[in-house]
This record gives sequence, structure tokens and C-alpha cells, in this order.
Amino acid sequence: MKLTDSHCHLDFDRFDPDRDRVIQNAAAKGVQRIVIPGTESHRWPKLHALASLYPGIFYAVGVHPWFLHDEPADWRQQLAERLGQRPAKLVAVGEIGLDAAVDLPMTQQQDFFQAQLRLAADHALPVILHARQTHEPILKQLRRFRPPGGVIHSFSGSLQQAEAYIELGFKLGVSGVITYERAAKTRQVMAQVPLEALVLETDAPDMPLCGCQGQRNEPVRVTDILATLAILRGESEDSIGAATEANVGRLFALPA
Ligand SMILES: [Zn+2]
Repeated sequence: MKLTDSHCHLDFDRFDPDRDRVIQNAAAKGVQRIVIPGTESHRWPKLHALASLYPGIFYAVGVHPWFLHDEPADWRQQLAERLGQRPAKLVAVGEIGLDAAVDLPMTQQQDFFQAQLRLAADHALPVILHARQTHEPILKQLRRFRPPGGVIHSFSGSLQQAEAYIELGFKLGVSGVITYERAAKTRQVMAQVPLEALVLETDAPDMPLCGCQGQRNEPVRVTDILATLAILRGESEDSIGAATEANVGRLFALPA
């Protein structure tokens, strides 16, 4: 079965010692495509380089709300230039969003978020969204700027919030959160929403699965997330794997 990790920070330094092995190990288990979201402008060239090196790697460019304080004054211009060049494997704008749990002013987060939503809409690219206690303000901006779809990465909101995103044409990222029994609400939501709304992700190196706490997460774990999702939904791994694969392919317009 072919699978895609729709959200993996493969560019992070924690993969520097053995990135080749991590990619090969994932591919050997069927995880043949990986989408790397952008976090900071100075890292964007590395994403492009990785995508040029490995056929199964795609990437997004964007400024993550945790890192916006380190951005140079011309970050927006740099982003617009990259989007304008539209390299073949640049498939989205992200990881962008709003985080109410981080100590950065919401007005500044909104400035970055809105500027990037506008660029995504202008360049007709989907967005990869980071939301923490911010689903309502994010939904409000999505309705305003109308980027052509996207994904709420590692979704853990309510069923009502899930339905609001789905109605706008957005996908929900299913992460290792569902492997924890205590994540009852998220497990229930992922079992209830239409399969057409789901894509799989690890958020590696972060978000280790249940039983792997304290370890570095890896893209190969998509297979375990799929196995858990199949149990929660009472459907076969084959059918969920095929459906989520079709979803992510359409979302990011990945080559077949
Ligand atoms: Zn992320």
C-alpha cells in the first residue's frame, strides 16, 4: 500500500544524522511521499533542496506562528517571490496559523497569518494550518480570504469545528494523537467525519505515538496511525489507506 505523510518536519536538525535512512525506512513500509511544511524563511532553501534530491518529497513555504519574531523585514516579499517562481514540488503555503498558547501577541500573529492567506489565495495554493485554541478566529479568516482548500494539521477540535472546516472544503490531519486513549474526543471525531475529509500525518520529529513517548517521531509511523484509524472507524486499512491517499493527492495536486 502506498501512503503519504502529509506533515513531517524532515528538514529539522534532529534528522541531520540519518535523514537518508529515515526516508528509506518509511518508503520500505509504503510511506513513499512526504510533505514538509515550512516554518521559517531561512529554512525554505533546505526544503527546496530536499525535494530536489528525493522524488517522493514535496514541500510548503510559510512562517509558523511560533517563529515569526525571527523573520527579516522582507519575509513577505521573499515568500511572494518563491510562490511566483512556483517550483514543481512546492505544493502549499504553510505551516501558518494562530496559536493562543504561545507567548506572542495575537495582533502580530494575525498580521503574518492574514498576509500568508492572501498570498495563498493569490497564487491558488492550499494552506497547511496550525491551530491551538484558535479554531474560531482561523475559520473567520478562511471565510474572508478563501484560499483554495487546505488542511488543519493534527486536528483535535470538536465535531462542530471539524464540520465547519469540512464545509469550507478543508481536510483534517489525523496524527498520532489518536493513538492515545485519553484523546477520546479526537478519536470520536475522526471516527465520525466523512473519510473524504481525512489525510494522515506524523508531525515528526514531534508528536510521538502512544508507547513511543520521549522518542523521535518518524514518517514510517503513518502506518501505525492508519492502523489505529482503521480500528476506530471499523473499516479496513486498505480502504482507509486508499481513500486518504486519494485525498492528499487531490489536496496538494501531487503527481499520480
Ligand atoms: Zn508542524
